[in-house]
Amino acid sequence: MEVFKFGGASVKDAGGIKNVAKIISLHADKSLVIVVSAMGKLTNALEQLTDAYVAQAENTLEIFEKIKEYHHQILIELFEDENHSVFDEIANTFIEIDWMLEDEPHPDYDFNYDQIVSIGELLSSKILSAYLKTCGLSNTWLDARGCVQTDNTYREGKVDWLKTREAIQKSIPFADDVNSAHRFVTQGFIGGTSENFTTTLGREGSDYTAAIFASCLDCPSVTIWKDVPGVLNADPKWFEETEKIDQLSYQDAIELTYYGATVIHPKTIKPLQNKDIKLFVRSFINPEEPGTVISNLENNLPVASFIFKMNQVLISIFPKDFSFIVEENLSQIFQLFHDHRIKINTMQNSAISFSVCVDQNEKKIQALIADLKQQYKVKYNNNLEMVTIRWYNQSTIDRVIENKQILLEVKSRHTCQIVMKGL
Ligand code: ASP
Ligand code: MG
Repeated sequence: MEVFKFGGASVKDAGGIKNVAKIISLHADKSLVIVVSAMGKLTNALEQLTDAYVAQAENTLEIFEKIKEYHHQILIELFEDENHSVFDEIANTFIEIDWMLEDEPHPDYDFNYDQIVSIGELLSSKILSAYLKTCGLSNTWLDARGCVQTDNTYREGKVDWLKTREAIQKSIPFADDVNSAHRFVTQGFIGGTSENFTTTLGREGSDYTAAIFASCLDCPSVTIWKDVPGVLNADPKWFEETEKIDQLSYQDAIELTYYGATVIHPKTIKPLQNKDIKLFVRSFINPEEPGTVISNLENNLPVASFIFKMNQVLISIFPKDFSFIVEENLSQIFQLFHDHRIKINTMQNSAISFSVCVDQNEKKIQALIADLKQQYKVKYNNNLEMVTIRWYNQSTIDRVIENKQILLEVKSRHTCQIVMKGL
């Protein structure tokens, strides 16, 4: 049994779904768990719907109508028979949200978010499962909420590995059968609590789902099918010339994703490394190409890799009385970042200041700063970018700082991080 994961870009329209079916048919002899994300940019649209619903905005139903229409278009392109049961299944998934929208929002925003946003994956997986069947690719649709068991930290469910393993092994009993191919189609990104509420695992979490299934089933490999040829040494969005990395160690992959390489979700690698499960990153556009393999290698990255993060904010914190920054202040400051659930991208301290670079999130940052200001003087700088270079040298640094003003530079032996501003 292997795990294939298809992200939103691979299933953004009817043509995408057909292409996924083609890839599955190229691997028709394999038993597969097929993990799928919501179609295209649907998760963003569902986030908008959640915002509108919680704010009880007038356009709530209008946003929802557009989401329904988008899926309907895809359905009519894929299924000629208007009486195909998939039309009812999709309609029923929408009805559950219709009911929710008629009610008052729950006081916990994150709870509302997970109940609404999770339908993206329910819809895409139902459509894919039904379409594969029309192509003669038999499969079983599996509800990931009964498999991936989490606590009730909505929007960032923490996986209970013991319960999850048990549930997955029960739901997928044929993992060891080598005589025939069994296929399961399930949802990335979503899980369930012991009270049967839906949770999500954090944005872009479908890769993590793929790793969870592979780990629990002791699969030999996971393949993530992407719109890039493999892992590149920089995101082509920011860099004209990129190089594909053929082989990558788990360690480098963990470092790259930790620093923000968006090619794979950061939580994905560790469970795979623990069980020596190979991770292939391959192109759904050129599915014959080998892509990148991430495995238990000793080698270092063959080329310097660049990770860009835009919309960064640099927060500098000073004790009001010009005393030194010592352990006591630091522990208080870290606690506040933790309480506000703000992740630190890089940091540096000097005798009288502590500087931290974080992703822009106006609401969260203003609340944090208000709390910090009770004890500290706080300065901050918006609209910055941060670049992390793994296996850096001076020429790679020079390449990225051209026409930039450097506000912060943090170097370790293999990694250099620069927070900068366009001139
Ligand atoms: N659909 C979710 C998102 O866009 C999860 C994923 O795609 O991995 O964040
Ligand atoms: Mg995605």
